[in-house]
Amino acid sequence: MKLTFFGAAHEVTGSCHLLQADGKNILLDCGMFQGSDFNEGKNNEKFPFDPKTIDAVVVSHAHLDHTGRIPKLFREGFHGKIYATKATCELANIIWNDAFHIMSYNNKKFQSPILFDEGDIEMARMHCEGVDYGEKVRIGDIQVTFKDAGHIFGSSFLEIEAEGKTIGFSGDLGNSNVPILRDTDRLGKVDILLCESTYGSRMHESEEMRIQMLHDLIMEGYNKGGVIMMPAFSIERTQEILYRLDKLIEHDKALPCFPIFLDSPMAIDSLPVYKKYPEYYDVEASKHYMNDEDFLSFHCLTLTRTVEESKKINNVPNPKMIIAGSGMMTGGRILHHAFRYLSDPNSTLIIVGYQAYGTLGRKLYEGAETVYIFGQEIPVRCSIKAIGALSAHADQQKILSWVRNAEKMPKKVYCIHGEPESSTALAHKLRDELSIDAFVPERNETVEL
Ligand SMILES: [Zn+2]
Repeated sequence: MKLTFFGAAHEVTGSCHLLQADGKNILLDCGMFQGSDFNEGKNNEKFPFDPKTIDAVVVSHAHLDHTGRIPKLFREGFHGKIYATKATCELANIIWNDAFHIMSYNNKKFQSPILFDEGDIEMARMHCEGVDYGEKVRIGDIQVTFKDAGHIFGSSFLEIEAEGKTIGFSGDLGNSNVPILRDTDRLGKVDILLCESTYGSRMHESEEMRIQMLHDLIMEGYNKGGVIMMPAFSIERTQEILYRLDKLIEHDKALPCFPIFLDSPMAIDSLPVYKKYPEYYDVEASKHYMNDEDFLSFHCLTLTRTVEESKKINNVPNPKMIIAGSGMMTGGRILHHAFRYLSDPNSTLIIVGYQAYGTLGRKLYEGAETVYIFGQEIPVRCSIKAIGALSAHADQQKILSWVRNAEKMPKKVYCIHGEPESSTALAHKLRDELSIDAFVPERNETVEL
């Protein structure tokens, strides 16, 4: 039985691993590389395997860096099934279409290549088989179980039984006490684990602290009287922010009701998926659902789906808040707002998620004094703030306790999906505290399991 790490090795994006067992070739995720131009260029390369030889793809969750190259697989000859939870199938379809629109725009403007077209997305959609948590999927002699990862809506970690061993694949693990989502399920009896390490070297603030920080930063931005910009990942971060704002504004009256815009077609399109699967909700969200309360909406929230609606935000007097994608400011409507308001000392940019190296979000987070947007140099005069704990990822402590509390602790762990420093820090902790053989694999490295 062999495993090759084709992405998310020594880096956070491009999740894609090939498991060869029981005569089958199974891909675990097939995501896009994101971040710098160099990194995104890797998406255009040919797959390092023949897509026609792949029997099936099992997908941990819908995020672009885990699903983004699936339509490209079909374009290059794959014709098998994709297994993912029902919500993941629907959210991935929204994500693929959004990626296609961005690619088409960039293709027209800069002649950059198109990875797939609408026909390939349709093929992917048709071949996506929605499964439930706890359900066992059979691929030949291999069995795959999906368990709740608590990372985004529909997210899962996988337990794969093959050739007498069980391999765990963490996908991305969620932060603790995240609204709407249930906590990460307990890890079962696994022999070998592929474990994400995005925040493998860091600790998040507590939930109370996160809410307090969110409240304080918005209040500060509101009092300054400018625009509060929040680049947010359209799936999950955005819904979490809406849930928190609904509570802070409508229930606790801790924040004033001022104009807030959700300026993200993808986030708006994903709201019905959240409403369709109440069986995924945690206890608190279930209560709201039973009471018929819409926890993703509040009085002063305006959804701006069309470009015209989005442009009208400019005419609304300050203070106002705009939540828009993309989360790392590599594209999307947030760029138009950043272009207008980064130079305004009264405005605020609140960063709420992981920012990959090379992205505009990362440059701003690291204190750049000027940045380039649409080819123009923009001086950064607004306040730049960040709430690390609002990340959708587990921190070091949560990952360690998840592994420690497994039904049977794995003997071997491969730390993937992290920058080298984070993956290495987690590997050391696993070795020192849990006496597990932990490794940080190289991209394209093959290991015998
Ligand atoms: Zn993710």
